[in-house]
Amino acid sequence: MVRLYGPVTSLSNVHVEIMTALVSFDRVFEILDLDPAIKESPDARPIPRGPVGVEFDNVSFRYPGAEETSVASLELNPQGRGSDDTQVLSGVSLRAEPGTMVALVGPSGAGKTTLTHLVSRLYDPTEGAVRVGGLDLREATSDSLREAVGVVTQDAQLFHDTVGANLRYAKPDATDEEMEAALRMARLGPLLEQLPDGLDTMVGDRGYRLSGGEKQRLAIARLLLRSPSVVVLDEATAHLDSESEAAVQEALAEALSGRTSLVIAHRLATVREADQILVLEDGRILERGTHEELLGRGGLYTALYRTQFAPQDH
Ligand code: ATP
Repeated sequence: MVRLYGPVTSLSNVHVEIMTALVSFDRVFEILDLDPAIKESPDARPIPRGPVGVEFDNVSFRYPGAEETSVASLELNPQGRGSDDTQVLSGVSLRAEPGTMVALVGPSGAGKTTLTHLVSRLYDPTEGAVRVGGLDLREATSDSLREAVGVVTQDAQLFHDTVGANLRYAKPDATDEEMEAALRMARLGPLLEQLPDGLDTMVGDRGYRLSGGEKQRLAIARLLLRSPSVVVLDEATAHLDSESEAAVQEALAEALSGRTSLVIAHRLATVREADQILVLEDGRILERGTHEELLGRGGLYTALYRTQFAPQDH
């Protein structure tokens, strides 16, 4: 009996291993490519290479599965405004010229993250169009979209693997020279010198322990290797010591330089530098302009500035 059970048990173990491998494989793509669940159109075209702009043309969005506007709320409010709380973005139009930075600010739940999700085509708009390099993302090939748009979140994910393998997830044919150059640009040159086996050093919980700031810079090095024309960045305030924070900021400046960027801004330096600030509230763009222009208007931006940004001004 024992012998009979043996193979069954080991087979089920194999199954468990496979399942685990599949789960982590999926997660790799979820994290690195933010692979859209959306299928490529049969006559999809590539997004042009080189500097490209980003455009939202009257975009409205509600998350799939969210309740349709009820007939009652439409009757009460024919435009569907205000009362439709499942609508996350409403009539958003914006244009980020090639190589410029657009900062997104606004209260929690305003729709900033959702807006950035549409740029990497995690979702399609319910109405209107999102264009990168002039091409509606619904008509773009997935490969060209992955190449054109890079996403950096502060919640950097690393795999229990070598430094090199972590970088090659972003660019499988990267040479050692390219990877080392990307690490140096991401301000990880000194770390590279310290790693006992260089690019072959294992990182992660059971390997060489990287600090929070080093992990973030490794994620930025990945982005630099990939070198997308458009960068989407959530600048969520990281809890780093000031030295590490400064190194991350330098690496980010490198990553954004010369690229078109949409940044969910939390730092005063970012809003000051942005070519354009969009102030979102309840899924709409309420104000737009530069830091100076918006402060002069005394609207929502001024209120946000007082609570969120001005405290950093010392
Ligand atoms: P924060 O500054 O807090 O991150 P945000 O401006 O980025 O906020 P979003 O995260 O885009 O705002 O959220 C906008 C609205 O969309 C919120 O009401 C939120 O609850 C809703 N929302 C976000 N993600 C989903 C989702 N996956 N499914 C359904 N609703 C969602």
